[in-house]
Amino acid sequence: GLCFSRVELIQPLNPFVCVLKESATAKSFASNDRYSKGKLKGPLDGIPVAVKDNFCMHSIPTTCCSRMLKSFKPGYNATVVERLNAAGAIIIGKCNMDEFGMGSGTIDSIYGPTKNVWLSKQKYTLGRCDFNHGKESEFNQEISSDCEPEDWYISGGSSGGSAVAVASGAVFAALGSDTGGSTRNPAAYCGIVGFKPSYGLVSRHGLVPLVNSMDVPGILTRTVDDAATMLNVLAGHDPLDSTTVRTLSVPLDLKEEINIKQVTVGIAQEYHCHGLSNEILNVWSFVADLLESSGAKVVPVSMPHTQTSIACYTVLNHCEVASNMARYDGIEFGLRAEENISTEELYASSRSKGFNDVVRGRILVGNYFLLRKNYEKYFVKAMKIRSLISRDFSQVWNSGVDVLLTPTTLTTAPLNSEFIASSNREQCAIQDYCTQPANMAGCPAVTIPIKLSEQGLPISLQLMAPYLREDILLSVAKWIE
Ligand code: GLN
Repeated sequence: GLCFSRVELIQPLNPFVCVLKESATAKSFASNDRYSKGKLKGPLDGIPVAVKDNFCMHSIPTTCCSRMLKSFKPGYNATVVERLNAAGAIIIGKCNMDEFGMGSGTIDSIYGPTKNVWLSKQKYTLGRCDFNHGKESEFNQEISSDCEPEDWYISGGSSGGSAVAVASGAVFAALGSDTGGSTRNPAAYCGIVGFKPSYGLVSRHGLVPLVNSMDVPGILTRTVDDAATMLNVLAGHDPLDSTTVRTLSVPLDLKEEINIKQVTVGIAQEYHCHGLSNEILNVWSFVADLLESSGAKVVPVSMPHTQTSIACYTVLNHCEVASNMARYDGIEFGLRAEENISTEELYASSRSKGFNDVVRGRILVGNYFLLRKNYEKYFVKAMKIRSLISRDFSQVWNSGVDVLLTPTTLTTAPLNSEFIASSNREQCAIQDYCTQPANMAGCPAVTIPIKLSEQGLPISLQLMAPYLREDILLSVAKWIE
């Protein structure tokens, strides 16, 4: 009940594109019954969670917030949805996103944008919500912000709906997806924990693909401990996703206090990039100093290929988009145009009606990169650069660094007006600069909120760790948190 009243209260921000009130209520009764008998189904029994709209749920619309899939109801559950159900979690709704995960704002959705919960003009009386060492969040107070009434702070993307669902306190946790930063970017803007596990640790079966070799289901929670709880439910080999790791994963148990003196933290100069705001830079050095004065070894490291990440990602992303989107022809999958025309015209008409301009643009550019005459020049070159970016990471880990500390985004959440004016909107947003490299290398990364900016918006930092070392990653994150 409380959960749905919150969902209703925050709906003006538009985090949910589909609310599953009936099934959730029935499950909640069943869970109460189990609770009274002392027989919990699993670690999340009765706990409300939300799922980004690009994860398949049996008989529930899975639209990727695109007209193309507006009426698509899958006949199966994504593995992560199965695992949430098995753990007793109650999925209360599907969350808004940029169409097919392409974007960094949750602006480009057929359901309209998701607005940030921070500094919103709306007055929220959600009660108190912990933020950063028991300091209370301020979205239950009216805050005068400097934006015009018709302007608002973006939630970030592409998993902006999931981030707002969690930040507002409507759900305990939400699933996002992360291909170049889509879980960490909105988590950073909304002041919550956004965790991208190692590639292959969590199954992608039933996650609508964007870039198959980089996609990872992401976890959004309010605390690092909650993220670990979610990972323990979701992680592990899945016969339906051949890229999942086969090693038996030991459930993650985050110790109350790690010995920070045994941790080496790398600071890569290359993440101090053009466009990084002073406020974020200051918070970055503040946390680095805090780690050092507490006994951690803080060392400067060099990752020279970081600057190439956006260009490289753009090529690889667009090529994979061109290939992944080919299935939406209006015949087998997707919206079918109404006209009585030839098959070829039907494809063209369905696709131009079904996809927004960002998706269509990426398909066109991707196909250009993949032309025989361009293949070596773009795709093959980008693959080579990708391996250099990965090599930067392995060299850093081999030098004894346990975790890297970097900014997550270059600024706090921008205003919608600023965001849509930026020329990078359709491309990979420059705000993804710090998040993309981890997807290239497949290593785990987490963003954690550190403090509020002078203006009252969350400032977050990112930690990255070697492949499958979520134990050290989340332990250090918990220490900082
Ligand atoms: N902003 C990036 C893009 O638009 C990343 C998206 C994502 O991680 N899904 O491709």
